[in-house]
Amino acid sequence: MVEKTLFEKIIDREIPAEIVYEDDLCLAFNDISPQAPCHILIIPKKPVSRLAESTDKDKELLGHLLLRAKEIADNLGFSDEDQGFRIVINNGKNGGETVPHLHVHILAGRPLLWPPG
Ligand code: 5GP
Repeated sequence: MVEKTLFEKIIDREIPAEIVYEDDLCLAFNDISPQAPCHILIIPKKPVSRLAESTDKDKELLGHLLLRAKEIADNLGFSDEDQGFRIVINNGKNGGETVPHLHVHILAGRPLLWPPG
């Protein structure tokens, strides 16, 4: 049997997480090592390894993740003009991916630099 990823274990409640949103398709929870005052990960329940492994069949799912990410940021007050937030998807080694289960980072609560490191 294939070993579950860390995020599959969080979905299955085998590892605790501070869950902030859940529906049939996705789960959102606070990052364990926040890089900003608000650092939330939103992940699909479907085990897609990374964005590069997604296909046209995942079109609706990918749209869903972005729309829910936007709503979470909005509900926390980060959509206001004087606030703002950043959405990040790390893909592969040079992209900084460390967990092989697609996840969308929502970062907010401080000015974020560009270009990223
Ligand atoms: P990546 O570097 O793959 O884009 O992002 C993985 C993220 O998962 C990192 O920001 C890391 O802090 C977070 N993370 C790693 N292990 C855990 C964990 O056990 N619980 C939670 N909530 N986040 C984790």
